[in-house]
Amino acid sequence: MTNTSEQLLDIEKIRKDFPILHREINGKPLVYFDNAATSQTPKQVIDCIVDYYETKNANIHRGVHSLSQIATDAYEAAREKVRAHFNAEHSHEIILTSGTTHSINLVANGYASILKPEDEILVSAMEHHSNIVPWQILCQKTGATLKVIPMSHKGELEMETYKGLINENTKLVFVNHVSNALGTINPIKEIIEIAHDVGAKVLIDGAQSAPHIKADVQALDVDYYTVSAHKICGPTGVGMLYGKEDLLNMLPPYQGGGEMIAEVTFEKTTYAGLPHKFEAGTPNISGGIAFGAALDYMNSIGFDAIAAYEMELLKYATSELQKIEGVTIYGTSPEHKTAVLSFNIENLHPYDIGTLLDKMGIAVRTGHHCAQPIMEFYKIPGTVRASFAFYNTKEEIDAFITALKKAKSMLL
Ligand SMILES: *Cc1c(COP(=O)(O)O)cnc(C)c1O
Repeated sequence: MTNTSEQLLDIEKIRKDFPILHREINGKPLVYFDNAATSQTPKQVIDCIVDYYETKNANIHRGVHSLSQIATDAYEAAREKVRAHFNAEHSHEIILTSGTTHSINLVANGYASILKPEDEILVSAMEHHSNIVPWQILCQKTGATLKVIPMSHKGELEMETYKGLINENTKLVFVNHVSNALGTINPIKEIIEIAHDVGAKVLIDGAQSAPHIKADVQALDVDYYTVSAHKICGPTGVGMLYGKEDLLNMLPPYQGGGEMIAEVTFEKTTYAGLPHKFEAGTPNISGGIAFGAALDYMNSIGFDAIAAYEMELLKYATSELQKIEGVTIYGTSPEHKTAVLSFNIENLHPYDIGTLLDKMGIAVRTGHHCAQPIMEFYKIPGTVRASFAFYNTKEEIDAFITALKKAKSMLL
């Protein structure tokens, strides 16, 4: 890589933090380019989970004993780290969930008792299934209408059409900050402003942006924002729902159970305040604490340096990939997206390419990436998706390009 990128990150030191990057797959060094599906986990986060079970394990928020208090303090400290990272005003606006899917379903379920049949909700054409299906279920329950903000061939949202679709019946707008299938960074600030002009609330699915962009929920004035820890160097099974305090207070509870109540009798139950109202049952305690550790880790590297380094990787990979004959890259230019390359090679099925790359130690995703409407839009069965993280290298991209050429010659 150029001198500048070496200065951006101490990549050798960073790679030492990730034990898995040093293993082999099918007898070849692992090249992990499936970061948009899940990121790898640094030693600091793994150690945090081990430390929890070795020194802190107890149920939280209920024990009178010291260990329970130690676990509770660690869990609440993690919530505070999440709050600070996304710059929420209050830590009780951070609901710790099992991930983005849970977060979205929590909100969708809440609106089932609020929406009316004349209401409309807008989703973008480039959503992950988890930001489509819950809203379809919501519309079935309430009779509200689901409308779609279309995208262009370049893989960008059609903002003029959006402005035409939105009206005073629009109650909710759902858009991902970054598309998982294409990497497109959507103009969410503008989308939010336009929605607020008609009084609609906006949920931004931040699952794919969080690993690359530090979102400030207050500056964005976003109503709900969702994240999965496992895409941002944290463990699976934990994530967040940010919601503005008044909106979260307005929503009914999602699940009933322990922890979320103030008082229970068989006649009537009153609910706990935020955030506990939405955190029924024993949560993923070690996961929540490790989510905080993952944010610490990412921040110690720095999001500006991460973004700049990943942009260099993306530009390099894009130009190398374009040199291969028959390649079509889907989506916008590197400047307008995160480090995702979604592509096909003429006359080859993405699955066959992915299978051969795997034999050469290279992990990419193939298929529809849980975003079938995008594939339908391009009239393709799927794509090969290579997605990069800050711990990937130019050498790995070289290995990927070499393997891709080899796969092409074997298949054609
Ligand atoms: C991964 C992803 C989801 C789903 O996240 P889970 O962690 O599986 O709940 C939703 N939206 C986008 C854009 C994603 O990338």
